[in-house]
Amino acid sequence: MQGVFGAQAQIARTTQCYFPKKAIIMARSTKYIFVTGGVISSLGKGISAAAIGALLESRGLRINFLKMDPYINVDPGTMNPLQHGEVYVTEDGAETDMDLGHYERFTHTRTRQANNFTAGRIYYRVITKERRGDYLGGTVQVIPHITDEIQLAFIEGSQNCDVAIIEVGGTVGDIESLPFLEAIRQFRAKQNRDDVINIHVTLVPYIKTADELKTKPSQHSVAALREIGIQPDILLCRGERDLPLDIRKKLALFCNVREDCIYGARDVESIYMMPTYFHAQNLDGKICELLNIWSKEPEIEAWERICDIIRHPAKEVHIALVGKYVKLHESYKSLIEALNHGGYANDAKVRLHYIDSEELESLDEKEIAEILGQVKGILVPGGFGVRGTEGKIRAIEYARTHRVPLFGICLGMQMALVEYARHICGWEDANSSEFVPDTPHPVIHLMASQEAVTDKGGTMRLGAYPCKLADDSKVRAIYGQRDISERHRHRYEVNNALRPQLEAAGIKFSGTSPDNSLVEIFELPDHPWYICTQFHPEYQSKPTAAHPLFASFIKAALEN
Ligand code: GLN
Repeated sequence: MQGVFGAQAQIARTTQCYFPKKAIIMARSTKYIFVTGGVISSLGKGISAAAIGALLESRGLRINFLKMDPYINVDPGTMNPLQHGEVYVTEDGAETDMDLGHYERFTHTRTRQANNFTAGRIYYRVITKERRGDYLGGTVQVIPHITDEIQLAFIEGSQNCDVAIIEVGGTVGDIESLPFLEAIRQFRAKQNRDDVINIHVTLVPYIKTADELKTKPSQHSVAALREIGIQPDILLCRGERDLPLDIRKKLALFCNVREDCIYGARDVESIYMMPTYFHAQNLDGKICELLNIWSKEPEIEAWERICDIIRHPAKEVHIALVGKYVKLHESYKSLIEALNHGGYANDAKVRLHYIDSEELESLDEKEIAEILGQVKGILVPGGFGVRGTEGKIRAIEYARTHRVPLFGICLGMQMALVEYARHICGWEDANSSEFVPDTPHPVIHLMASQEAVTDKGGTMRLGAYPCKLADDSKVRAIYGQRDISERHRHRYEVNNALRPQLEAAGIKFSGTSPDNSLVEIFELPDHPWYICTQFHPEYQSKPTAAHPLFASFIKAALEN
């Protein structure tokens, strides 16, 4: 495969020489880094992959990421956030695994549908081909048909880059991940030796009673990998402590990995410390050496700055997140990260209070004031289903009447409009037709064109849409531009028929689709900071470049 020409980077196959800051551009082929996980899940494979991507990108290489998930769902769009965590929506409207969010936050990569596939999607493709007769009557099997389709997906998802980082979900040893690992083995066998490496993320636990770090789980998981035919090139050892030399030696001996290819991945204070933490061990240098990539030295000043702010924030601010999935914080991953980024932009630490919206429903005003009185800003996020919506309305009413900065996102925005319609317009029965289909005041509803579609998924507005900001609005000043593009994931829309009355009552519809047919943002001009968006701005925020709405929201909360 021919790689594209990466900015300021050179990948040479045989000759090596250093190119300082401005290197000539001569990428010859795409390089692949496969990332697997051993022993247990939740070792931070996604973060490790993203941090490696950040370092390679800062060396001037063009990076792309792929996440392969071994479950049978075709995509995570229909999965419960409390089970699977957040669904990350890409620009092209794909509902994907939340690791793609990490990839985008750590690098400038823009992921798409091709960057995430599941076993279900692979099987679906193979079965579709089989039904179409593409296999000409042959017996369709895991090897070679499924494994070929997986390799095709590697190639599809790693276009336009110098280095593709391909992460396999799940843990080595799971039945489900076998076809993926087999596909990696086959793929590697077809490539040049220095075009592919395998990084295995494993656990090196500390056993307190013995006062020892244990290598046995890693030995077993590498043995399981080698049984399939994959020899890891690099081990990233997750644990509470740094790896002493004797443990490194032991791992090298038993796992057949060079001692200088064994890296510590100790728990750190923040995920954003991972790039500098890995760089301090020269992990990026080693990866470049193994892949025979010669590039400039990485520029990691931006990451160092973030680490400084995280370690020594000048201020702190308490923010409430009022939602129904608060029991699993992963459900709001991008949102929580975007709030942190907003904090970094203001040299502040954001202290989050997770408030279950359903629990607010049975409280009286005084009790609500006791809970929400502790915070300086309230964020009401998106969601599906009626549970907890009345509690969200209570929190929104509190923010509006107590002049506390309020950020409503998607369902949060819809409920804010319902709250205003009920309490200011006097439409006590106002609601979203998602919850009360025949309400006389459906301020949020399905548009006529959507109602015609019976398949629920078919009506969902997904992915990036353009939005035009009103000149005299707060959002126009915050964004500093008139035309923006933000990502969506919802079915219901603001009811245009009721817009004039809502406007007359004080709502400012400050962001709309360019043809004005869809409301994207509304704000309350006479409130210190009350901004609600139909889209999800959190998907585009980065630690090194906070989304303007989040930076402004945290600033307002600090001033409150
Ligand atoms: N349930 C609402 C809708 O479908 C909001 C969705 C969301 O918050 N993502 O429009």
